[in-house]
Amino acid sequence: MDEPTGGRLPERLYQAYAFDLDGTVYLGDGLLPGARRLIEELRARGLPVRFLSNNPTKDPEQYAEKLGKLGLPTPVDEIVNTVVTMTRWLLDHAPDAVVFPIGEQPLVRALERAGVRMSSDPAEIDIVIASYDRTFTYEKLQIAFDAIWFHQRARLVATNPDRFCPFPGGRGEPDCAAIIAAIEACTGARCEANLGKPNPAMLHTALAGLDLEPGECLMVGDRLATDVRMALDTGLAAALVLTGDTKRAEVDRAAPADAPDFVLDRIDRLLPPAVWKELGWTENEG
Ligand SMILES: [Mg+2]
Repeated sequence: MDEPTGGRLPERLYQAYAFDLDGTVYLGDGLLPGARRLIEELRARGLPVRFLSNNPTKDPEQYAEKLGKLGLPTPVDEIVNTVVTMTRWLLDHAPDAVVFPIGEQPLVRALERAGVRMSSDPAEIDIVIASYDRTFTYEKLQIAFDAIWFHQRARLVATNPDRFCPFPGGRGEPDCAAIIAAIEACTGARCEANLGKPNPAMLHTALAGLDLEPGECLMVGDRLATDVRMALDTGLAAALVLTGDTKRAEVDRAAPADAPDFVLDRIDRLLPPAVWKELGWTENEG
C-alpha cells in the first residue's frame, strides 16, 4: 500500500482550486474518499473551486447533475469540459467556418446553440472535429476523408488527446485519439489543435473572471501527461492524486520537469496538515 503522505504535501492554502473529475473527485459512480468534505471546506472558506474534464460525451449540465446526485451540488458555471473549450475555440478562431463534428449529441447541441454552421457535405466543410464518438462509422470517416483529402479544404482539430477513457475495475473504452488516428492515417493530415488538457486553454477558461495569478491557484488530477502537464505549463501548482490512473512508481520515475509539486494518496490532503488538525479530521472519515 502507498505510504500515506510521501512527504510532498501542500503546506498552505491556495486562492483557487481546479479539479480533474474522473479518478480525482469520483471514480465511476462513487465519490473518492475525502472529496466531499474537502470541497465543502474549500467552499466554506470562500475559495473558488472549478471542475475540468476532457470528456466531450457529456455537457456541463450533465456533469452538474452527476455531481449533485453524488452529494456534491455544483453550479454549471464551475464546470468546464471539452464541449465548452471546443465551442469557445471555434467562436474565437473560426467563427465563419462550416464544421463537421465527429462527436456525440452534447457536442453537437453546444455547437448548434452557439450558432456554429454544420454540414456533412465534404465540398463545404472547413473544419473536421474529431471527438470521443461512440457512434463513429465508416460513413463519418469517408466524409472526413473527402473533406480533407479529396477536396483539399478541411482542417482537422480535436476535442481531446486521450487514448482511452478508464472505467472502474481496470476496463476502458477507446477515446478521441483513436478517431484522430483514423483520420490522420487515411488523409496524411495532422491534427492542428487539441482543445483538451494539457492545452492551457482549458485552465484559462475555467479560471477566467477570478482575477488571480496562476501561482496562487492549484490544479489537481490523476494523470501526469494531461492534468499535471497543463498545470505546470499554465504556472499553477500541480498536485497528482493516486486514486486514479497513475501509480506512485510512475510519479517517482517522472523527469523533474514533468513532476507534480505534490503527490497525494487521497484528495483531502490538499488541505495542509495544520488545517486537518484544526478541523479534527482523521483518515477514517470523509
Ligand atoms: Mg482523471
